[in-house]
Amino acid sequence: MLKEYKTKRDFKKTSEPAGSSRKRSSAQPMFVVQEHHSSHLHYDVRLEIDGVLASWAVPKGPPLDPADKRLAVKTEDHPMEYGTFEGEIPKGEYGGGTVSMWDKGTYENSKLKKDGILMSMKSAVKAGHIEIIFFGKKLKGKYAFIRTAFSGEKKNWLMIKMKIT
Ligand code: MN
Repeated sequence: MLKEYKTKRDFKKTSEPAGSSRKRSSAQPMFVVQEHHSSHLHYDVRLEIDGVLASWAVPKGPPLDPADKRLAVKTEDHPMEYGTFEGEIPKGEYGGGTVSMWDKGTYENSKLKKDGILMSMKSAVKAGHIEIIFFGKKLKGKYAFIRTAFSGEKKNWLMIKMKIT
């Protein structure tokens, strides 16, 4: 799952973690949002799913208002160690620029299947419709991530704050 992450980076040049896929023992999966000042400022929203950080780049940042639907472009899975990464990615390297923590915490999957049973996060990503509850400092309550049908490479999603929590 981390192949794309590793091929994009030269770990002799960047201080980002080379990382590996691993499971954490805690009951609640973690999330982080990293503010990333690269060629264009964006916010990387990362959700722990099956031992890696599933990732989306949100140019305008996560919405805090249900009226704002924010573009979230799916990017490559990142290793769990990336969840604590802050600092400088060298200029000229992939994603060169400054990374700082914007928010972190845990989240809870709340996406139900038609039969009322919880859908796995992996299945929800595959189906292009995630529903989770954030327990962060800035991100709180229920959010949806919905893949939009009109994107050619199917990498475009919308991140939406839901009214009902
Ligand atoms: Mn980024």
